[in-house]
Amino acid sequence: MSVTVDADVVPDTDAVPDTDVVVVGAGPVGLLLAGDLRAQGVRADVLEQLAEPMTESRASTLHARTMEVFADRGLLGRLGELPDGGPGHFGGIRLDLTAADPRHPYAGQWKCPQTRLEAVLQERAVELGVRVRRGRRLVGLEDRGGHVKVETVTADGGRERLTARFVAGCDGWRSTVRRLAGFGFAGHDATREMLRADVAGIDIPDRRFERLENGLATAYRWPDGSTRVMVHVFGSTPRRRHGPPGFAEIADAWAEVTGERIGHGQPLWLNVFDNTLRQASRYRRGRVFLVP
Ligand SMILES: Cc1cc2nc3c(=O)[nH]c(=O)nc-3n(C[C@H](O)[C@H](O)[C@H](O)COP(=O)(O)OP(=O)(O)OC[C@H]3O[C@@H](n4cnc5c(N)ncnc54)[C@H](O)[C@@H]3O)c2cc1C
Repeated sequence: MSVTVDADVVPDTDAVPDTDVVVVGAGPVGLLLAGDLRAQGVRADVLEQLAEPMTESRASTLHARTMEVFADRGLLGRLGELPDGGPGHFGGIRLDLTAADPRHPYAGQWKCPQTRLEAVLQERAVELGVRVRRGRRLVGLEDRGGHVKVETVTADGGRERLTARFVAGCDGWRSTVRRLAGFGFAGHDATREMLRADVAGIDIPDRRFERLENGLATAYRWPDGSTRVMVHVFGSTPRRRHGPPGFAEIADAWAEVTGERIGHGQPLWLNVFDNTLRQASRYRRGRVFLVP
């Protein structure tokens, strides 16, 4: 096994920590936090397991409070023109998000792909002096009282150690930080799931969280002409899965709920999400924080 240690990482001693805060995870939360810390003069290093930024189609909408947060930091200009996201929904039920305060400067919701948001947040963080260290997966964490020691592994098996005054776990819902630091995570497993896909080569009407006789369906056309479909068949329960669902399963569910055939299309992305409900029992243990 090859072992690599960055020249700027001091050996594993109890001396002065290498950095103030290790932020684990370069998603929107980790990148925003690291930039904010650096803006306050705090040294921050982001450790991210992905060698390259995430390219999946994930979150696509910003709400008023998020817009305020970005406006405070002067980030809206960097995001460019954001298309109006139209009315919102709560649990699939249409909800006009402007109704609460129509004169609020950011009343409503805006479309912004998560990939674009992450690019902007990383750009800002790096400009401020954050070190975003990609291709490093957190595998070890030890709170030594005066500092925290973390250990990462690279794709080729190289191990690195870093010490920090604090660690912020921004590593998503399967958080390694949460597990390694021993945070509780009580709740229940999924009882329902929603299938979704981006599909090219189909021509179906847009639907906005329609509750039909056999299930829930939503469809909208992306600017590139492909269509995002999401579908839940009433009464169905989550399957045991070892990867994303097959397109045939999604096409069958779509046909059952809407009566429309999409199986001739070309699936670009297949995914499933569910209603797993869990919450960390606390958000700080010693020098380790969870930042969900
Ligand atoms: C497939 C998918 C589809 C989604 N679709 C939607 C959607 O349509 N609409 C919506 O509103 N939201 C959606 N979400 C949710 C949205 O993406 C999340 O709410 C958001 O990304 C959370 O941001 P985060 O920064 O907390 O975590 P994440 O974005 O999950 O970022 C965590 C980062 O930590 C890294 N990481 C994890 N473990 C380690 C480790 N051990 N070492 C180093 N790095 C690690 C990960 O690689 C990742 O980059 C989706 C999420 C997923 C996974």
